[in-house]
Amino acid sequence: MMSNIPQYSNDSAGIYIHIPFCRKACHYCDFHFSTNTTYQDEMVDAICLELKLRSKELAHTKIETIYFGGGTPSVLTINQLQSILQTLRDNYSIHPQVEITLEANPDDLSADYIELLYKSGINRLSIGIQSFDESELKWMNRSHTVEQSYIALDVLEDLHFIDYSIDLIFGSPLCTDEVWSKNIEEISRYRSPHLSCYNLTVEPNTVLHHSIKSGQVIPLEDDMHAALYQLTHDTLTSLGYEHYEISNYARPGSYSRHNTGYWMGNHYLGIGPGAHSYNGTERSWNVSNNALYLQSLKLHTLPSEVETLTDTDKYNESIMVGLRTMWGVERKRLQLTHGQEQYVEAMISQKLVVVTPERLVLSERGRFQSDRIASQLFKEASL
Ligand code: SF4
Repeated sequence: MMSNIPQYSNDSAGIYIHIPFCRKACHYCDFHFSTNTTYQDEMVDAICLELKLRSKELAHTKIETIYFGGGTPSVLTINQLQSILQTLRDNYSIHPQVEITLEANPDDLSADYIELLYKSGINRLSIGIQSFDESELKWMNRSHTVEQSYIALDVLEDLHFIDYSIDLIFGSPLCTDEVWSKNIEEISRYRSPHLSCYNLTVEPNTVLHHSIKSGQVIPLEDDMHAALYQLTHDTLTSLGYEHYEISNYARPGSYSRHNTGYWMGNHYLGIGPGAHSYNGTERSWNVSNNALYLQSLKLHTLPSEVETLTDTDKYNESIMVGLRTMWGVERKRLQLTHGQEQYVEAMISQKLVVVTPERLVLSERGRFQSDRIASQLFKEASL
């Protein structure tokens, strides 16, 4: 599976647009969003202004991918989305085969809305299904029901023109082998070219975190998370999906071009409150507060902070993200100490690492532990 390995490109980039609104607050979520959707128009105007103010940053670069993330971008009306898309067309050089993805919740996806999205230029949807189990959805405090998920997916089956991806989450305290098996088996009913299966993590200051701290919720054991991860891999690869990144599966070649760009180290511009950008040497991030973001844009100033990355930062990050993918990292780029080479040998004998003449790749089991293994290969790791 090592053909067509995506490459770093310095003359193309992606744009991420953060839409910071949601209908409900999911109990596990620590993304930046507000459930107060009354000032959506104002936010869309500010996002358009930020796009104009920052267009020089990608003046000589073709925009290969655009990604509306959040939050829940599908809370926006077609007119609001069209106004952002028009600003993009007026101020950036957009590749004719651009991938434009919009994250959407099933309760927003009527056939009419999807057709209008497509006519506006959005050619890929990433749908937050999360679970086909009603009790789990309720526990997560999602805004939609299982029935709404089925309706949205049936509509997508009929509308062949639009590409889509399904998001699922495993590892909630209600997630048994049976619940999760049913979730991933449901996938076989759909053509879904792409799937993201995230392992639920407990983030600080979320409702989930407080419920665990107060003893109301007992989290699953680590072994159970690992077993669910393996079950996901076994089921989805038997359905013909490639497991191309720790949490991502695709029909052959139907990778998310936008996310693959991140993993290859390509440049990207992040627009909207809380969005991050990377230009090859600096990482910057906008303030994660809707009111402060709007205030700042009213004064035509960018509400962002910047950090310059050292060569070591960039090297370590490329190891971290590369090892999460099925392409791994190029061996010629590795600068391992003697201790790290011995560590790799030990990982090979434990069948966690595989080496080819060109690349170092983690096995399925290794990928589930990729953060731990990658950190041992960092520059300045204490081996
Ligand atoms: S819809 Fe998505 S962004 Fe919004 S609260 Fe739920 S998980 Fe978080």
